[in-house]
Amino acid sequence: MKKRKVVTLAHYYTIPEVQDMADKVGDSLELALYAKDCDADVIVFAGVRFMAETAKIINPKAKVILPDINSTCSLVTMTDINKLKQWREEHKDYVHVAYVNSSAEHKALSDWTVTSRNVADIIEYIYSQGKKVIYSPDRNMGAYLNAEYGYDMPLWSAVCEVHDKFNKEALDELVGSISGQKYIIAHPESPLPVLNDCDYIGSTHGLLNWVIDYNGSKDAVILVATEDGILYNMKKARPELDIRQAPIYTGCKCNSCPYMKLNTVEAVKLAQQEQGGTVVDYLSDDLIARARIPIDRMIEFGHRHM
Ligand code: SF4
Repeated sequence: MKKRKVVTLAHYYTIPEVQDMADKVGDSLELALYAKDCDADVIVFAGVRFMAETAKIINPKAKVILPDINSTCSLVTMTDINKLKQWREEHKDYVHVAYVNSSAEHKALSDWTVTSRNVADIIEYIYSQGKKVIYSPDRNMGAYLNAEYGYDMPLWSAVCEVHDKFNKEALDELVGSISGQKYIIAHPESPLPVLNDCDYIGSTHGLLNWVIDYNGSKDAVILVATEDGILYNMKKARPELDIRQAPIYTGCKCNSCPYMKLNTVEAVKLAQQEQGGTVVDYLSDDLIARARIPIDRMIEFGHRHM
């Protein structure tokens, strides 16, 4: 009997040991595209639930396994789908752009999905067509886009509980205590006051590339306002640099996604052996078909414009 091909995908925010078990490590867009094009019989998705659902939506033939079904995301749990439907109804003449960090039901209610990597280009494109946009679910990212590009998009009000904790006062205090050169780089899920002070704002992939391409002084301190998992990749790529996580409101430098960390080595191993985890087989064909439309639109946009 032909051996089944098992492919393991791990998000940058999982623990280093799990990243080392993966065939592909990446941000949500990289992993979604990899899931779409890989010829796996089984995809083990070491990430969070909406990511595994996205993999199933764009590669419905594969058996997608999520190592721990409790690995949700605050952007999903803070969004009541019935209220979202109502909000959508109240903005009938708007184009609904949804961050990919959303449930399958949420995606099915949107016109486009976006990631932090392509959101600015896609929204700019929609506005250039003379259309108006509503943005969900990440309030911080929407506020940043409105401020940066002068939009007035109505915003849904959910946050990433990890990035929302980065705090301007604690950051100012830390920055003030560093006498030499320093840089602040941040993910746009962080609060606007933190983003206002940044040298660079970008997606997880963008932040990693910024560090890889950095050619300034080796004595500078690089403060990173994003989930701590990516610091492993940054330090691995540039071990000679002083890279530190930005502080949260308690002054602690340890902001970490509890859901991503549910992907333990043991849970991923069991999923790889098809002995554990949850098979993403609960999305109806109709839901998959509806949620796929905005995702395909995003992927197609990437082929045409990026
Ligand atoms: S880091 Fe934030 S956005 Fe990402 S999965 Fe965790 S809670 Fe969700």
